[in-house]
This record gives sequence, C-alpha cells and structure tokens, in this order.
Amino acid sequence: MPNTQRISGSCLCGQIRYKAVAAPLFQAHCHCQDCRKNGGSAFSALVFVPTESLSVQGETQTFSHSADSGATMTKHFCSNCGSQLFGTNSAKPDRIHIKVGSMDDAEWFQPQCNVWANSRLPSTPVSPEVKDFATMPVAPAKI
Ligand SMILES: [Zn+2]
Ligand SMILES: [Zn+2]
Repeated sequence: MPNTQRISGSCLCGQIRYKAVAAPLFQAHCHCQDCRKNGGSAFSALVFVPTESLSVQGETQTFSHSADSGATMTKHFCSNCGSQLFGTNSAKPDRIHIKVGSMDDAEWFQPQCNVWANSRLPSTPVSPEVKDFATMPVAPAKI
C-alpha cells in the first residue's frame, strides 16, 4: 500500500493552491495524446487521489471532452496562467488526478506503470522497472 502523502501545490501564478492528505490510489505516466495536447509535454505524470481528500483555494476553469470510452473527461486549469492542475472522469467521480508537475514537492512520486504506452513518443525514455500497459488498464487502482 502506498504511504499517505501530504500533497500541496499550485499553478504557476499562485492564484490557485491545493492540498490533499491521501494515500495515492494510482500513480502513472500517461502517454495518451489527450495528455500530450493538454499539457504540452511528451507525457503526463499523474497521481490519483480520492476526490474528497483534495481541497482547493481559488477557482479553476474547466474544459470537458469525450474519451474513447464515452466518459466525459474534465481538465481543471488556472484561468490566469493556464497551468493544468487536475483531471476528472465522469465514470469515476470518486477520484481525481493531480498533475505531478504542479506539486510543491513531488520527490516521492513513483509511477507504477505507463498507461497508453502504445502512443508513447519514440524519444521518451523507457524504464525497465515501470510496467507498460498498451492502453488504460481496467482496474488501475489494483495494480
Ligand atoms: Zn495561475
Ligand atoms: Zn493521458
């Protein structure tokens, strides 16, 4: 079981701050194209926590789109500086992911796996200790 973490973070301009005290449900690198587009980087580092464990100061703006699964995916970002902070999935309202790059201290972050590894960019380094899933595993919290 992952240890309970005291997570805190903010957007780049500081208008939005957040805190969570939670044992992460799932930690991953996601190589899907949606993450690439919305984050502007080669892949996303994500930590999923129970939605109720997250408290946010300031109001995020949201953008929703449909996933291949039919679920509605919502991205939460700062309306002032545009930093991506959180993401939610309408099919799993009890969990929210935090973008690791927005955390004040993410030294503890350890991805359990790569999801959507089949769309990983050829230049992205591969770690032999991190398991690949071609797409999104059905029950990621149990990995
Ligand atoms: Zn901001
Ligand atoms: Zn993704």
